[in-house]
Amino acid sequence: MTSQQLLILNAGSSSIKFALFENAAGLAEIARGQVERIGADATIQVAEAGMRASSRPVFADDHAGALHAILEIASGQPGVHSIAGVGHRITHGGPDFSTPRVLDAPTLQRLAEFSAWAPLHQPYNLLAVEGARVAFPDALQVGCFDTAFHRGHEFVADAYALPRSYFDAGVRRYGFHGLSYQYVSAKLTEIAPDVALGRVIIAHLGNGASMCAVKNGRSRASTMGFTALDGLAMGTRCGQIDPGVLLHLLSEGGLDVEALSELLYRRSGLVGLSGISSDMRVLLADGSPSSRQAIDYFAYRARCEIGSLAAMLGGLDALVFCGGIGENSPEVRARICEGMEFLGIRLDARANEAKMPNIGVGDCRVLIVPTNEELVMARAVHDRLAAANNNSNPL
Ligand code: ADP
Repeated sequence: MTSQQLLILNAGSSSIKFALFENAAGLAEIARGQVERIGADATIQVAEAGMRASSRPVFADDHAGALHAILEIASGQPGVHSIAGVGHRITHGGPDFSTPRVLDAPTLQRLAEFSAWAPLHQPYNLLAVEGARVAFPDALQVGCFDTAFHRGHEFVADAYALPRSYFDAGVRRYGFHGLSYQYVSAKLTEIAPDVALGRVIIAHLGNGASMCAVKNGRSRASTMGFTALDGLAMGTRCGQIDPGVLLHLLSEGGLDVEALSELLYRRSGLVGLSGISSDMRVLLADGSPSSRQAIDYFAYRARCEIGSLAAMLGGLDALVFCGGIGENSPEVRARICEGMEFLGIRLDARANEAKMPNIGVGDCRVLIVPTNEELVMARAVHDRLAAANNNSNPL
């Protein structure tokens, strides 16, 4: 029988990432890549498994163009014969979705209702589903939710102190980056079994950034909330903010809801504070006072959130870094760990510089675990396909 493959799509407001896997036990990765800067000067990067990425300009003045380029690459990639399933990262699963789902019409309709709750991601996630359905009409389309890993928190970790009717209507803390946390917490059972079931904080620090408190391998709290705006400062998002500021901006600051949304999602965080860039590499290299202050704020908020989550867990056995910044920046990791000895967090400076998996020398383990959200999604699609095949071939 000809081999079958899986395509994984992760669409955001300015980029679409993709990965290709064999649909077979072991889920060998074939290639991965992304289209960046959709709209102007788009480029496509592709890396075959174990190889360096190559990058070239691509015509993608909108998401349909970017997706078209990816679908063409996916179909033409050596070793790709038949796409059996497509896994989609869906940012917001709302109160309904706590496990991966086949994306049929009623499910897609329900997910569209959460678009306003994740405006940088959800509409683009759903556009990618539409495009993939047309390109691969026979493939199973499966949604994997960034909120799912956080379902099952205690009421106090999910509630806002608003009248109860709001919670019942879905206004609660959902938490995001769940696919990454699912991967990292499972990986801990292999690489650090002594702490995997203990009290762990995972810091996913990328353009979007959050932390998750995990105990016994299960999410107990997230720094993100109803939307992916809360918690840490991010590349362009504000993170924690006094709601009174928002009332002020609406009532006296001359902003309407659309302008406020643009401010909080796209013009705040590192780019807002520095006035220079949302990209941590650029800020680290820049060294101007405003860039330094933006990095100071990022590290300060991260320390505050570690303290808060550690209090919630009743102590800390391990702190784990992942995401573009968490995996790659010794300087930011060091800044975050500064002054955290009271929690047993002490970095081995050389191991940190060398990006070793174990970078702590205190009572609390400090680890770097490169995340792999795409593999979590590939597993989900593989399992769904296996279940669908078993149902259609009863013994
Ligand atoms: P996304 O949330 O879009 O998946 P990533 O996880 O790829 O983002 O992280 C992107 C961030 O990681 C950017 O701020 C980038 O500057 C930062 N980053 C990547 N490599 C490094 C590095 N070597 N040093 C510091 N920051 C880095």
